Amino acid sequence: MLADEINKARDLLARAERLVIFTGAGVSADSGIPTFRGSGDSSFWGRYDPRALATPEGFAENPRLVYDWYNWRRSQLRAIQPNPAHHAIAHWQRTRRAALITQNVDGLHERLAPPQSLGIRLHGSLADDRCCACDWRESVDFANLPPLRKCPRCGALVRPDVVWFGECLDPDIWALAEDTVRECDLMLVVGTSGEVFPAVGLVDLASERADIIIVNLDPGALDHIAAVALHGKAADIVPKLL
Ligand code: NAD
Ligand code: ZN
Repeated sequence: MLADEINKARDLLARAERLVIFTGAGVSADSGIPTFRGSGDSSFWGRYDPRALATPEGFAENPRLVYDWYNWRRSQLRAIQPNPAHHAIAHWQRTRRAALITQNVDGLHERLAPPQSLGIRLHGSLADDRCCACDWRESVDFANLPPLRKCPRCGALVRPDVVWFGECLDPDIWALAEDTVRECDLMLVVGTSGEVFPAVGLVDLASERADIIIVNLDPGALDHIAAVALHGKAADIVPKLL
């Protein structure tokens, strides 16, 4: 029964000394941002394959289409608010110094995170652009979105500062994430399918020493290593764990 499972998860949370919270697109689904995978309200993506728009090959083929798609996502974000799951997570960051590792690029955790809390963004941020060739970067004003343009330093195209499918993660960020996970005794995994590599490797790494609690809409590839797997909407379930 869900209530028993929730109680079990609450016990694990009460006992844990070092909590790491690991989130994926599902934590923002209840704010109205569609996920790429899963059975949520993903019909939204019916017209295109997000994975074709979120690859270096897609950008090379049609940079304007890809850049405009990211600008469209940025324009949507202006009206979007963090949901009760983000608020509950920020509460743990404030009250028990929980570390947050997110795959999301939407900035919703960051809007609530207390200063000096440890927040690791594995996949970059929609709020920044960077050059495809050199290390030039720039933050983006969502109220005044720039068009596709060339780098003022080297003339190569400018792209969103997010990690696309098939790209490597920043090695320093990855090392920090691994170190953080190695120290935890409990990982709360919210809204991730367990199919995005290498991010999912962090859950495997945590499971060597820590208990795992999973909150996800659908049963998934990670459930078998979890002490508790709770299926339902993140915005309903995560606040119940407080
Ligand atoms: P993912 O593989 O983490 O899958 C999302 C998971 O969320 C699915 O398992 C789905 O069942 C679950 N889910 C859907 N609605 C939910 C809800 N209301 N409550 C709890 N769980 C729910 O991620 P993805 O969607 O395949 O995206 C891949 C990558 O693309 C991400 O890691 C991220 O970098 C990027 N992305 C980011 C955002 C964002 O920033 N909000 C959104 C889409 C994709
Ligand atoms: Zn450049």
